[in-house]
Amino acid sequence: MCIFCKIIKGEIPAQIVFEDEYVVAFNDIVPQAPTHILVIPKEHFNNATEVVDSGLWSWFMDAALQIVKKLELDKQGYRFVINTGEQGGQTVPHLHLHILAGRNLGWPPG
Ligand code: 5GP
Ligand code: ZN
Repeated sequence: MCIFCKIIKGEIPAQIVFEDEYVVAFNDIVPQAPTHILVIPKEHFNNATEVVDSGLWSWFMDAALQIVKKLELDKQGYRFVINTGEQGGQTVPHLHLHILAGRNLGWPPG
């Protein structure tokens, strides 16, 4: 079982900030910004490309936006990132959306 599936099952502790039927969100263990949250679907998908259910995408993005609004990240700005595959910088093979906020975020990414 992958590390994020273990977090979903409560086998590995995490600071959960949001949970609903299909989605869990928790603080990144190595935060890259003052706010660094990972949003994941409860169902395991290796990466973004594997999700073909537009209903899940809709639910997933809605959950991410609920977190943004609850924490008022939209006031100063925030960034959504989904790293995918080796060159995309993905290190955990369970689809996750990074929510980054709380500082000026550089562009282009490294
Ligand atoms: P990726 O590099 O795949 O886009 O992002 C994986 C993220 O998962 C990294 O930012 C990393 O810090 C985070 N991460 C890896 N293992 C754990 C863990 O056990 N707990 C938490 N909360 N975050 C983790
Ligand atoms: Zn998983």
